[in-house]
Amino acid sequence: MTERPELFIGGRWQQPRSGETIEVRNPATGARVGEAALGGNADIDAAVEAARASFDSGAWADAAPEERSEVMHRAADLLEKRATELAVSITSELGCPLWFSEMAHVPNPIRHTRYYAEMARSFEYDEYRTDGTNRSLVTQEPVGVVGAITPWNGPLSTPSLKLAPSLAAGCSVVLKPPPETPLTAYAFADAFAEAGLPEGVLSIVPGGREAGAHLVDHPEVDKVAFTGSSAAGKAIMAAAASRVARVTLELGGKSAAIVLPDADLDEVVPKLLPMAMMVNGQACIAQTRVLVHRSIEKQLVEALAAAVAAQKVGDPMDPSTKIGPMVSERQRERVAGYIELGEQEGATVATGGALTLPPELQGGWFVMPTVLADVQNSMRVAQEEIFGPVMAVIAYDSVDEAVAIANDSVYGLSGSVWGPDVDEAVAVARRVRTGMVSINGVPQAYGSPFGGYKQSGVGREMGPEGFRAFLETKSIAVGL
Ligand code: NAD
Repeated sequence: MTERPELFIGGRWQQPRSGETIEVRNPATGARVGEAALGGNADIDAAVEAARASFDSGAWADAAPEERSEVMHRAADLLEKRATELAVSITSELGCPLWFSEMAHVPNPIRHTRYYAEMARSFEYDEYRTDGTNRSLVTQEPVGVVGAITPWNGPLSTPSLKLAPSLAAGCSVVLKPPPETPLTAYAFADAFAEAGLPEGVLSIVPGGREAGAHLVDHPEVDKVAFTGSSAAGKAIMAAAASRVARVTLELGGKSAAIVLPDADLDEVVPKLLPMAMMVNGQACIAQTRVLVHRSIEKQLVEALAAAVAAQKVGDPMDPSTKIGPMVSERQRERVAGYIELGEQEGATVATGGALTLPPELQGGWFVMPTVLADVQNSMRVAQEEIFGPVMAVIAYDSVDEAVAIANDSVYGLSGSVWGPDVDEAVAVARRVRTGMVSINGVPQAYGSPFGGYKQSGVGREMGPEGFRAFLETKSIAVGL
């Protein structure tokens, strides 16, 4: 059991002014995992006040980059010592397989913390530029107080892509994790406090939508770093506009996997599957639309359906489980509703389906992984983000049509192109209007930027782009 009855405000554990708590339940079983305090507006106000005071004091913002770097490295070491416990905690509140928490959800945030610790030290903050007549110092400064708002599908990894670069840059941060998974993010509070982060610089206040909106509206928040749905992202961008607060947005996706006519399906299917089903299908970059040349559509649907049906669905603590439950009952109902909608729209269920849950899974919020065939891109199941283990197969007749279908989406986050000729695949990838594309399932190189075009977001995380997102640029004219 993990009991977190207090909020981490300005570096101190405090009773919630809201008086609210939430019981966290294991999505696989419904068993109680623990309880967490939930912050309200007064808690957000206290956290922002502490952040503002610490930022203005310069205790962290003006500390030598080497000092910031050392604190961050210490925090990363402390997180690493708890890796086993943290993986269990994530799986208990989120429901993704434990092996995935161990492989990605825990090591990635530690890696991000170390990466930005190094960037704090090595970044060139000052540059002189001259036009022959005048000379300016162009300098990069921390953006100020950051409001970071995160969703439930990466309880440590999503916060880490905001905390690591913003703290490395010298910002003070208020992190608001969601009520579905409020427990594991506190590992950052434990680690940074022990590592010597000055008081006030970091607050962690789990809370609901209202607390998030209050953080966005707060006049002392200079920058909002948000990950979540496009609907919330739009509301946040509009709210931030009233005082021209800086925003970066990492939003939803409906990524297309373009399977070229000469692709080897024996290679494609096993690599594509985990890219569609990671975190039980609850991933923003999930490859959920599979675009296949009509000449190989039947073979692909058969192979994909067989592979999906063979995925073990069940207890996420079991190492052989590939797909666990949805995070909440609400999310389960939403995903099942989309599968039913797909059938009503004319899609064929090649495997899975909303009503096929075996009795042993009925104690948790499971959905059977589903392949919808005969999908048209105009259907809602092809246009809207389902955020569950559901793949939609769409046939095309020419590569031009495949690119047009891939781009016929309000989203533009990720995608993939599959075929034996890498140059040809890259040429297709260049035509896809998304922030990221994988060729044949190859993962992104570490340090390359992550983020989306269109309604999938504004700005980028990871790499130097993710660091610059927390800097302001100042020109000081100094004369020759
Ligand atoms: P959500 O938008 O409902 O909530 C995300 C967070 O924002 C939560 O902390 C929530 O409390 C808060 N929130 C909601 N409305 C708000 C508002 N108006 N103002 C301020 N805060 C608000 O999303 P979710 O259901 O928790 O997460 C799933 C979504 O996140 C999916 O759309 C997914 O694609 C997206 N996501 C994107 C990325 C990315 O990097 N692009 C990564 C992970 C998840």
